[in-house]
Amino acid sequence: MLELYWTHPSNYDPKTQTYSCPYCNQTVAGIIHDLIKFDGNHPSLGKTTETAYSVIECPACHKPSVYKYGEQITAPFGKALRSVNHVPEKINAVYEEVRAGIGAKCYTSAVILSRTALMHIAVEKGAPDNLNFQKYVDFICSAGYVPPNAKGWMDKIRKMGNGAVHDLEIWGQEDAELIGKFLMYLLIFIYELPSSI
Ligand SMILES: [Zn+2]
Repeated sequence: MLELYWTHPSNYDPKTQTYSCPYCNQTVAGIIHDLIKFDGNHPSLGKTTETAYSVIECPACHKPSVYKYGEQITAPFGKALRSVNHVPEKINAVYEEVRAGIGAKCYTSAVILSRTALMHIAVEKGAPDNLNFQKYVDFICSAGYVPPNAKGWMDKIRKMGNGAVHDLEIWGQEDAELIGKFLMYLLIFIYELPSSI
């Protein structure tokens, strides 16, 4: 098992680490307070000291995170995408869950939740409530919420339609980010832009 030990940054260690703060969502140079290291063995360099984690402070909001060097992730996880203003409460709650899901690498649940949100928005904008997912995407396109050059994008999103109940679908990062981004732009077009004009 890896022997981890805690130190404060020495003169040779970096004092900051660039990361996206999970609390205030800003990309900042975090102040390193503690380093958690281990001794490694490099084939040609011999014995090495590697940094596994650091405890960092956000210079903007002063909240702490743990930064994991290997995967370049933080605990707590940051959210993906950006918040959108003037979104109705329930849809916003679902959208925020999509953001958190993508940030925490829960891609399948983010895709399923995005799909549900998109269908909900289509119904709210006048689509019948008994269509399948592809038809709801078509409705959103024909209602003018999608730019004309987005066909390639939209074809990929249509493929994320509801499989049969017995098909267990697993979705990856690219899928989740694509449908999440589509949801974000749609929310901006429908709720945020009109209220800022
Ligand atoms: Zn912060």
